[in-house]
Amino acid sequence: MANPARRLAENVPGDVYVDETCIDCDTCRRIEPSVFVEGKSFSYVGRQPGNDAERLRSLMALVACPTGSIGTVSRADARPAIAAYPEAVAENVSFCGFTSPDSFGAWSWLVERPEGNVLVDSPRAANPLVNEIERRGGVSLLFLTHKDDVADHARFAKRFGCERVLHERDVTADTRAVERKLVGEEPVDLGPDLIAIPAPGHTRGHAVLLYREKFLFTGDHLAWSPRVNGLTAFRDACWFSWSEQIRSMERLLDFRFEWVLPGHGWRYQAPSAEAMRKELVKCIDWMKAR
Ligand code: SF4
Repeated sequence: MANPARRLAENVPGDVYVDETCIDCDTCRRIEPSVFVEGKSFSYVGRQPGNDAERLRSLMALVACPTGSIGTVSRADARPAIAAYPEAVAENVSFCGFTSPDSFGAWSWLVERPEGNVLVDSPRAANPLVNEIERRGGVSLLFLTHKDDVADHARFAKRFGCERVLHERDVTADTRAVERKLVGEEPVDLGPDLIAIPAPGHTRGHAVLLYREKFLFTGDHLAWSPRVNGLTAFRDACWFSWSEQIRSMERLLDFRFEWVLPGHGWRYQAPSAEAMRKELVKCIDWMKAR
């Protein structure tokens, strides 16, 4: 819970604030960019919410914040913001909110399917979120893009009895019990509408998940950057191999998708799969020049 005594001096005066425990994960800035702005390795409130919609979005940022670094002087009722998660993104895909400090605030996604729901990367296993996911049918498959974003995977597996999928190269002591381990670099069918695509680079065993040839869940492999107005990858947070990450990016040119839904960085919807491919080519050229 945020502490007003530790309120950052950069916050504008008013009810909503960020305290000095912020880890600069960027979650709040993506949820309500008109209120939360970027500081020097932290976020702060640059403008107080000006209407009910902005206030709700600010409270949704408070709920999603991995470190409980956002507070309100008035101790505002956060129940409507809690109830807003998982938040619909498009069709049957939702953003889970409730990010975890164990994955540095990485975003998790829920896909509700008649064949069984898919959770992509693990959010914080907060009771309101877990209960809501249960109400929506639970989780059959928990796809873990890489070892950094596994967070509360064991609690979700225990609660829902879901199969966890992770590439064997990213298995650690914490994920040894994962039910299905991907091997090699060939794409793997996980169902009629789901393809796991190994994408080494950020980590040795990173993988992305393609759903319906439309939604690509990219973990820390690929994201949108409003700053460069294009797709991007994180050179400074490439823990394994930048050249491998470029090769993995090139392999994605063989697939069609319109959405990029990352763990870190901004999501993006292209007008078409062809337009997304052009963005991906631009991104690869940019990566090669780095
Ligand atoms: S969501 Fe929380 S930890 Fe992340 S940048 Fe905002 S205040 Fe900081």
